[in-house]
Amino acid sequence: MLFKGVAASPGVGLGRVVIYKEPDLNYRNQPHSGQDNEKARLKQAIEKFKIEISKLVEEAEAKAGPQQAAILTGQITMLTDPFMISQMEELIEKGLIAEAAMDEVTQSFQEMFENVEDEKMRQRATDIGDLRKRLLRILLGVEQLDLTAIEPDSIVVAIDLPASVITALPLDRVQALVTEIGGYTSHGSIMARALGVPAVTSLTGLMDSVKQDGLFMIADGSAGEVIIDPDEQTLARYRQRQHEWQNDQASLKVFIDRQTVDADGVKRTLEANIGGMAEAKIAQAAGADGVGLFRTEFLFLNRNSLPGEEEQFRVYSEVASLFPNREVIIRTLDVGGDKPVPALGLPKEENPFLGYRAIRYCLDQPEVFSIQLRAILRAGATHGNIKIMLPLVTSLEEVIAAKKILDQCAGSLASDGRPYDASIKLGVMIETPAAVQIVDLLATEADFFSIGTNDLAQYTLAADRGNPKVGALCSPFHPAVLRSIQTIIKAGQKASVPVGLCGEVGSNPQMIPILMAFGLDKISVSPSSLAMVRRELSTWRLVDARELTEQVMSQTSANAVKQCINAAFERKSLNLNLA
Ligand code: PEP
Ligand code: MG
Repeated sequence: MLFKGVAASPGVGLGRVVIYKEPDLNYRNQPHSGQDNEKARLKQAIEKFKIEISKLVEEAEAKAGPQQAAILTGQITMLTDPFMISQMEELIEKGLIAEAAMDEVTQSFQEMFENVEDEKMRQRATDIGDLRKRLLRILLGVEQLDLTAIEPDSIVVAIDLPASVITALPLDRVQALVTEIGGYTSHGSIMARALGVPAVTSLTGLMDSVKQDGLFMIADGSAGEVIIDPDEQTLARYRQRQHEWQNDQASLKVFIDRQTVDADGVKRTLEANIGGMAEAKIAQAAGADGVGLFRTEFLFLNRNSLPGEEEQFRVYSEVASLFPNREVIIRTLDVGGDKPVPALGLPKEENPFLGYRAIRYCLDQPEVFSIQLRAILRAGATHGNIKIMLPLVTSLEEVIAAKKILDQCAGSLASDGRPYDASIKLGVMIETPAAVQIVDLLATEADFFSIGTNDLAQYTLAADRGNPKVGALCSPFHPAVLRSIQTIIKAGQKASVPVGLCGEVGSNPQMIPILMAFGLDKISVSPSSLAMVRRELSTWRLVDARELTEQVMSQTSANAVKQCINAAFERKSLNLNLA
């Protein structure tokens, strides 16, 4: 059975299905077993909860240190609070089942913590949310999938796989990731590419055909295909593709750790997009010319409390130390949209991509923002190569307001007598249609621009970047997006503001000649794409790139643009083969 989806991360995986499911914690149809029994069930569940958490505390202590472990111990303390338990018992006496009583009490505690002023106390809301889910799972007898126990050669199949779950997987045993929901630029896909694991997404209805673990599956992340229970011939064909893919990867090795030059011999700047230290090391090994985008929100995921100034300072300085004399662009917290951070306890929104996110959140929460800015300013003093970048800017006021907070942070560091980078550069991501329209105004306040094509395409084309139903509409090859990119680069040139690009399309070989012809100063791509982009750049002369771009810019639709580029690439590979 063949399914066609979106090619989210290249490579071919062959293996057995492991289904990842968020547990169903609906208790509405649970029978009532009598007051005493319900109380006894609650008591047993609490005991089991303590045993589970104690085990996790040991693991956390070994893997993440005593601070993370203390967060978990805190959950046990909360659940042994006699007031909390007596409230649950009272509700059972009023006729509720154990699940409903526990749910109601923990929810009211969670809401109480969500509404307090103090940031630290607010974070306890997340702990209680965690506690509630675990206790409900125990009460309902729902098994938790142990991601770490996955067998070798597994293909993880899910409705959706958030970036946080992907990072927790033992990827050496995972052949591929396959999901119903998501698009090329959703964060699960970006994470899969960053980690170099093949992935296919946007496979609507797939879970109806994959009901159990152990089915044999092929996932071709380069073609966006998934095949369940293939016949011998098909399997042989895909084994061959996997082999070819592995050979191509091996041939790319010569492009690792060498200068990036085009076919005219002109040096080009190729940087890396990273989410933390692990990717920074891969980027350094692959010869990145620096970091064009550090997605700092990844430091905030997978945890119950926010990283403090010291922790952030340490990470930013460590990354900076890997790239001496190269820039490291740290993007301030870009939360919201498809990047929920439980530790921030953000409210659920009708339209998260149009909501309380990124720079909007940071300006509204100067405490959280200042902790990050102080950490960046201090790290900037260690190697002098750090720059700051603001996400999702839609107005000049936002940049001015952010700079004011930055100045205040610098002032407080000066009076604390702490070293910081007093001349740190501040750039703006151009990733909304508003920013494109006022790019000349933004140039008066920004030291540099970086084009975020993932969001720019989504907002320009009004097509959710993670929604498979409109995935095809969200194309960076649409003339509206191409014209926007060209406008930004021209405005940057006019105002002498350097322009980079850090959206995913930077690693699409078909976009390379266009960006080159537009006069883009630098490209930043996922570490796993560095060698491939370097190889592609090495094959283009500016005169050829300009000729193709002239044709491309006269096309009237995304499809026509793609056809035009495809034809040029076919001619080019024919010429290369004949040469
Ligand atoms: C973008 O929007 O293009 C971008 C690089 O940022 P993110 O994918 O993190 O939104
Ligand atoms: Mg973005």
